[in-house]
Amino acid sequence: MTMKRRTFVSSGLACGAGLCLGGMHSAAHAQKRIPFCGFSLEEGWTGRGREYVTREAGSNDRSGVPQIVRRINRELGFEYEFRILITENEDNAYATVAGGQKILGIDVDFLKRLNRDVGTEWSAIQVIAHEVGHHIAGFDDDSHRGELNADYWSGQALQRLGSSRDSARAAILAIGSERDSSSHPNKYRRADVISQGWNDAQRNFIDRSFCIAC
Ligand SMILES: [Zn+2]
Repeated sequence: MTMKRRTFVSSGLACGAGLCLGGMHSAAHAQKRIPFCGFSLEEGWTGRGREYVTREAGSNDRSGVPQIVRRINRELGFEYEFRILITENEDNAYATVAGGQKILGIDVDFLKRLNRDVGTEWSAIQVIAHEVGHHIAGFDDDSHRGELNADYWSGQALQRLGSSRDSARAAILAIGSERDSSSHPNKYRRADVISQGWNDAQRNFIDRSFCIAC
């Protein structure tokens, strides 16, 4: 059984009432303090009819998502705790904060399709690392800057996990947007910043200008 994300978070599973409405993208714009960033390969988050949470992932969830998140944390030297919501029919992934908790929403079927379409399993890991990256970097009022910050951390993570630079960039270049949207920079800029993160990680350097919270 699935339920709408708004219902799920309002039920108290993810956060207290009030803050939860910020999980919706439109509300995130109206209430700037509540961050919300989807991976948004195309034109950004629509939130319409595609907001279903199937379950909260336990630490050994069959999706493998919490295990990947733990490895990203470990490779980057962070100890963040996340609540991970497995979604369906979202065709996206998202990061938000509710009730003081760091939330990741991951549509696993979407990531499987992405891996298949792009031809590398690093695609799914890059999307997850991007969402983790939002939480590492902190949420910026400037959404383009916020997205590039998250992309930088995904490049950092993928190099440390053993991905090639090309594999780290593959997903965004295959299906990212040709042009800037209101929420996301174009795919070429994003791929450049993923490369920057990857290159820096290779020489064991972290550029803190991509982080407003650490
Ligand atoms: Zn993002």
